Amino acid sequence: MKTDFSRNFIGGAWADPVEGATMPIYEPATGKSFGTIADSTAADVDLAVAAARKAYDDGTWGRTTAIERGRMLTRLGDAILSHAEELSAIEAKDTGKPKGVADADIVALARYFEFYGGAADKLHGETIPYLPGYHVGVLREPHGVTGHILPWNYPAQMFGRTLAPSLAVGNATVLKPAEDACAASLRLVELAAEAGFPEGAINIVTGKGQVAGAALAAHQGVDFMSFTGSPEVGQVIQKLCADHYITCTLELGGKSPQVVFADADFDAAIPVIVRAIIQNSGQTCSAGSRVLVERSAYDAFVERLADAFGKVRVGAPEMNLDCGPIITAKQQRRVQSFIDRAEADGVPVLAQGLLAEGIAADGYYVKPTMFGPVPRGNVIAQDEVFGPVLIIQPFDDEADAIRLANGTDYGLVAAVWTRDGARQMRLVKRIRSGQVFVNCYGAGAGIELPFGGSGKSGHGREKGFAALHDFSKTKTMVLNHG
Ligand code: ADP
Repeated sequence: MKTDFSRNFIGGAWADPVEGATMPIYEPATGKSFGTIADSTAADVDLAVAAARKAYDDGTWGRTTAIERGRMLTRLGDAILSHAEELSAIEAKDTGKPKGVADADIVALARYFEFYGGAADKLHGETIPYLPGYHVGVLREPHGVTGHILPWNYPAQMFGRTLAPSLAVGNATVLKPAEDACAASLRLVELAAEAGFPEGAINIVTGKGQVAGAALAAHQGVDFMSFTGSPEVGQVIQKLCADHYITCTLELGGKSPQVVFADADFDAAIPVIVRAIIQNSGQTCSAGSRVLVERSAYDAFVERLADAFGKVRVGAPEMNLDCGPIITAKQQRRVQSFIDRAEADGVPVLAQGLLAEGIAADGYYVKPTMFGPVPRGNVIAQDEVFGPVLIIQPFDDEADAIRLANGTDYGLVAAVWTRDGARQMRLVKRIRSGQVFVNCYGAGAGIELPFGGSGKSGHGREKGFAALHDFSKTKTMVLNHG
């Protein structure tokens, strides 16, 4: 089987889009097109959902045991590691990631299949003490057919994050990757077939969000949706799901704060804080995009942070520097417009990264930029830029720090930097966020760690055992044995 980037993968075979349309895909580092993908319509989504339903209902997939599913997932994890070079090259070309970042993403992708391969047969139900003469058991069951819509920032990792737990539980899946980066998914589904996943367990339909994506979320044959992307599209997905009475997981981004107190270990904090924003060129939902610094230490800390930030280097994937290009020309313009607007508002620029010599003039590059002090109401302090833009703000005391940390519509990840143990605990409890790191930060780190947000960051949990719960439902059995 040869990977065919211009066709869908439905019922275990490559399929031309029903209406025959394709669309170009581009290399962010050069701006050049390197192929086409299927520009699918609702008719393709119908076929994919039917294939998933058949696999689930006729037992080829639906009646597999948890042990068998665990073995398939584990085999796919192994296959990913033995194809790591090839997969990393696909990912770097498709997204512009520096080679080292793409390599690390493939290892993380394999971890999803290792983790959920091991977890598949460890998802238990429970019994509940009830009335005399009764036995009550709570079973955990798959939803049936799950729909998955992915963003373009971590296409390979997201394939694992969303599919591995759903497959571990026993759902049959239909995936619509992002039109701006879907090559890895199309190669991975082949490796999945070789690892033993039967036809129909994983189906892939590429194309535009408003057409193929909307058709998937609206499809009557889909029992649960998992979406990662922008808050605006997340709202659309949730409404489409509501129309046919299903629920969804939404992971929608953030404006995650790093709260630095005067007693923090600056040497430890500074490299972690720089990395947390420039990782993947800032195109990370959980990027640490706001640094809040206790006023008494503001000048000393910011001077050192600016010095480190100014050393960030940006280049093409093969240069393997700190940052690559932005994913598309459209996103590049969006990120640049945030920078331009903050400058026009008179927000001081504290540092900028360096563009490497020799990068393609038509590549989608922006200069990483650090602003501060940023007024509290300024757009750049509130909106998710999704690029390498860091904002710095001072706070007066602990109460002010908490107010500022909770002062956006988002709530995905936060970090607290202080040596005071009691203060660490108070902040962990009072910051509104799905994850809080203390004296460390992990944008997207840890497959074992439940991850998800509240407010404009979305709802539901991915990763860890939490994802197995979201991708399954309980059935309560009440048995009268007299
Ligand atoms: P991003 O900012 O990452 O491009 P989007 O939310 O626009 O975020 O896209 C994330 C995913 O959602 C992509 O796979 C895209 O095709 C899909 N998408 C975009 N618009 C819609 C829509 N109206 N309905 C369903 N899916 C959509």
